[in-house]
Amino acid sequence: MAEETFFRKIIDKEIPSDMLYQDDFVTAFRDISPQAPTHILIIPNKLIATANDIEIEDELLIGKLYSVAKILAKQEGIDESGYRLIMNCNQDGGQEVFHIHLHLLGGKPLGQLVAVG
Ligand code: AMP
Repeated sequence: MAEETFFRKIIDKEIPSDMLYQDDFVTAFRDISPQAPTHILIIPNKLIATANDIEIEDELLIGKLYSVAKILAKQEGIDESGYRLIMNCNQDGGQEVFHIHLHLLGGKPLGQLVAVG
């Protein structure tokens, strides 16, 4: 069974965050170390450690992450200019926090998807 991360404490408001959205299923807050003018993390309230741990029963929940991303992109004023949604998985994907999260990045041209070299 996966272990809870500090994201649980953010969901439960036990540690502070710049929270932008929360409902019974999903929480979204600004990344503490933004890589773009808009950098928001959108996470399920339920612990799913990595993309490898997503089950069929989670399909609606994963879809909801994208629905919330769409709402927040509009709220941030980047829906027309564009943005990128990324979920890192495990070591080569650069995942640091083992509670899945969608990075919503935008507010400037983001360049290549993967750095070359
Ligand atoms: P990943 O590398 O995909 O697991 O992303 C983890 C993200 O969590 C990184 O972009 C971090 O900057 C971000 N992060 C770490 N601690 C916090 C925090 N306390 N509040 C908000 N974002 C955080």
